[in-house]
Amino acid sequence: MRGQLETIVGAMFAGKTSELLKRILWAKHQSKKIIVIKPIIDNRYSKEKIITHNDLSHECFSMKDWKHVNDKFNFHKDFVDVVFLDEIQFMKSDETLESVEKILNSGIDVVAAGLDQDSRGRPWETSSMLLGLSDKIIKIYGFCNVCGMEATKTYRKTEGGDRTQVGAADIYEPRCLKHWEAR
Ligand SMILES: [Zn+2]
Repeated sequence: MRGQLETIVGAMFAGKTSELLKRILWAKHQSKKIIVIKPIIDNRYSKEKIITHNDLSHECFSMKDWKHVNDKFNFHKDFVDVVFLDEIQFMKSDETLESVEKILNSGIDVVAAGLDQDSRGRPWETSSMLLGLSDKIIKIYGFCNVCGMEATKTYRKTEGGDRTQVGAADIYEPRCLKHWEAR
């Protein structure tokens, strides 16, 4: 049987990594064999762990690209039950789609988490493609830092910087549509 793809998306600080971590703990309670992967670009807090903004963490493999991952792991149903991917927006679209498809076809489940949009409001390609492939989608919301209402957008507090600028609360915050602007 083909594995299931579940994708968790939302703005920054909505709690995506916490949702992912919750699923990691569920899988471990069921004694499932898991692999946790995140791209190496995300070195905000740690190179070898996924860490939530409230300091919960789990060890992970920091990938350079999918070749790096495939050299390291054997994605066979006998060895892996679930693969967890964090910060999918920073993974390359084509090779990620191809690799996830292959993993699913091996009967292994995949749970992916990441930003759906950048601070300019444009969809991230890899997240969009995985959403399109998903069996199950979870969209979670933060709270607008101005009014406290539901936030679907990531607001960049500083001018300029490129699209993939990695940052935390010093650079980004969640905002509702009324208080967000593209920048
Ligand atoms: Zn607001």
